[in-house]
Parts: sequence; structure tokens; C-alpha cells
Amino acid sequence: MGNVTFLLAINASIGIAFAAMFVGLSMKYDLPMGRWCAAGFICAAFFVALEAIVPASFAPLKLSLITFAGLLAALGLISVGVQRRYQPAAQIWPVAILFFILVLSHILFIAYSVRDSLIHAFGYQLPYFALGAVGALCIFRSNRRRPADWFLFAVLLVMALQFVAKAVLARRLNTGADFGSYIVSQYAHYSQSIGAVLAILLGLSLLMVMAEDVMKQVRDSLQRDHLSGLWNRGAFVERANHILEKHEAGAVVVLCDLDHFKVINDTFGHDVGDEVISAFSRSLKDGGGELCGRIGGEEFAVLFANGSVAELRQFVDRVGFLFSNVEFGIASLKPTASFGIAFATENDRLEDLLKRADAALYDAKRAGRNTFRFAPAPDLEGQVAKIANGDEL
Ligand code: GH3
Ligand code: MG
Ligand code: MG
Repeated sequence: MGNVTFLLAINASIGIAFAAMFVGLSMKYDLPMGRWCAAGFICAAFFVALEAIVPASFAPLKLSLITFAGLLAALGLISVGVQRRYQPAAQIWPVAILFFILVLSHILFIAYSVRDSLIHAFGYQLPYFALGAVGALCIFRSNRRRPADWFLFAVLLVMALQFVAKAVLARRLNTGADFGSYIVSQYAHYSQSIGAVLAILLGLSLLMVMAEDVMKQVRDSLQRDHLSGLWNRGAFVERANHILEKHEAGAVVVLCDLDHFKVINDTFGHDVGDEVISAFSRSLKDGGGELCGRIGGEEFAVLFANGSVAELRQFVDRVGFLFSNVEFGIASLKPTASFGIAFATENDRLEDLLKRADAALYDAKRAGRNTFRFAPAPDLEGQVAKIANGDEL
């Protein structure tokens, strides 16, 4: 096995190894980029292997075109994978159109240029540069700036620039007059060595990004309450404290508690009770709750970074309306909830805020349930009085 053929075999193995890891991860977790990148690495491995095993005498022009388009497609698939994660709203077709334009223009370059010419060298490498740059640009334009994102961005950028450098290198070194002499050329040796290093770096950086996504999913699922899909108490407190640090005064907590829930359980059964809990959780989300947590059996908390008395009133009205319209298939089941609302003042800790919201909730319960109460706050007295505390929802 020649030197370059050996490097091609290594590159193909690297591609397959990373593709296997990406497929494994994508099957277990929801990774928008996983399958695209796996397809990209499999595609790259296939065409690199093809270069290694096809006899040099095989129709050289066709082989060159096939491997060019195949490897470009691999890079295109990886770029789409990167795009899926960093710009999920973006369409795929611009990348697909770019790919076809690049392949067509390449065919023209190949047809009308001499293999050793400048135009051939750039015609061969610039399409790779373009698709690599698309990936890097997607990351740059997103607002994700964690170390793994920077790493992937840097690798894609270096990779894209390396294709330009290769065009220059191709001019300096002899690339061979045909595929047979290319495979034994010094240029092919450099090109495939750099390719191996970059393939490993690209695979590792993609793996790092996917590992971050997996860790986030695992962390989220541990912090989610399975019945309601909302944050559990610990996660709610952690996130609420984080928001309070930034928006000390102006943040608002709404505590909610289902009315006579024990009776619902006793009358209709625990399963129906569970349905009511998940329906109320949906109403909180659909009603516009920012940070929603299930902090007890049938108790919920919602935190807003800021909000006025009128906005909060609208929120509880909306949630009450949505909840009252849920169909449980039992005519006599019309569950309701009560709400206690407290505004944060300066130096308020979450415990203080929750305590005041709880007192307001207790007031709402005492007032007959299916209603809300604002906790008194020094600078809100006037507004709270005006907004008619405690209409029925
Ligand atoms: P109030 O109007 O004063 O809030 O009365 P309540 O009956 O809603 O309050 P209470 O605290 O007496 O009862 C709450 C019940 O919620 C008791 C408990 O069995 C039930 N519960 C707690 N967690 C769950 C759950 O996950 N599923 C179901 N179905 N019931 C639950
Ligand atoms: Mg209750
Ligand atoms: Mg309760």
C-alpha cells in the first residue's frame, strides 16, 4: 500500500468512526445536527475509500469528478448539520442550490482548464472553501458562544481557509498530470495528511457540541417534572434565583394552587387528578407563563422578570379562561385554581417573595377560591387597590 493510499484508508476509517458515534448519539437523543453530520462523515469516508481502492487507470476524469462532488456533498451535509443546530429556522435549499452551482461550475473548470493551471487549482478548492465557510458563518451569526461553539467555529474556519491554501500549494508542488501520478505526488501526501488532522478536529469539535446538547437534555430531564412537563421545585428555585439576581426589583411571582383538589381525587380518581394537573400546567404555559414550576403536589409557581399589575391580572385571567375551557370528558368536573401574586422589591430574596405570594394565595382561598390576590407591596398599594383585587376568574 502506497503512502497516500495508506492516508486515504486512515481518513476513511476516521470518517466511519465519527459517523458511528454520531448515529449512536442521534438514535438516543434529540440532536438536530447528528444525522446530517453522520451522513456527511459516511459520505466522506465512502469517497475517500473510493479514491484509495479504484485503480489509477480507471477513467480519470470521471473519477476526479465523482470524488470531487462526493466530498463536496459530504462537506455540504456537515454544513447543513451545523446550520440545523445554530440556525434552526434557516432553510436548507440555499445550501443545496449552492452545492449544485459549485458542482456545475467545477465541471466547466475541469472541462476548460489545464490540470496544473491556477484556474484549475482554485476551481477545485474554492467550492470546498465556500461550503466550509457557510458552516462557520452559521455559528458566527448565531448567539451561541460556549467554548465548544468557538472550537467548532475555529475548526470550520481553518478548514475553509486550508482549502484556499491548498490551491496555492497545488501551484507550488506538482499535483500530478493525472490521478495515477497524483496519488504518488508530494502534494497528495500533504493534502491527505492535513485532511486527516482536520477530519479528526472536525469530528471532535462536532462531538463536543453534541455532547453539550446531550448533557443539557439529560440535565433538563432531571430537572423537569414528568407529569406536568414544568420545572421541578429545585430547578425552578435555581432559575428563579438567577433571574432575580438580574432583575431584583420588578420581578413578579405568581403562586397557584388547584381548588379542592383532594375532592377531585376522591371523587374521580387519581388518574383524573393527574390529568387536571397536566391541563393546568398547559394553561400556565399557553397563558404566557415565563418560568413555570410545579413546586408541590397541586401547587405551581410562575416567575416573570418584570410585569405590571395590569399585565399580571391579564395573565391570571388568561390562565383561568384556558383552564376553564379544558374538556375532561366528565360533565361535573370543572376544576378551578387560586392565585397569589407578589412583586419583588429591592433586596428581596426568593423566599421572601414566595412567602408574600403564599400569604396572598391564602387570602384568595379564604375569599372563596377561583380568584387571585396581590400581596401588598409598599410602592404598589395605589395600583393594587385600583385594579379591583379579587374578581372571580
Ligand atoms: P384547597 O382548595 O384548600 O387547596 O384544597 P385542596 O384539596 O386542593 O388541598 P389539599 O392540600 O387538602 O389537597 C391536595 C391534594 O393533592 C392531596 C394530594 O393527595 C393531592 N396530590 C398531590 N400530588 C398529586 C399528584 O401528583 N396527583 C394527584 N392526582 N393528586 C396529587
Ligand atoms: Mg389545593
Ligand atoms: Mg396545596
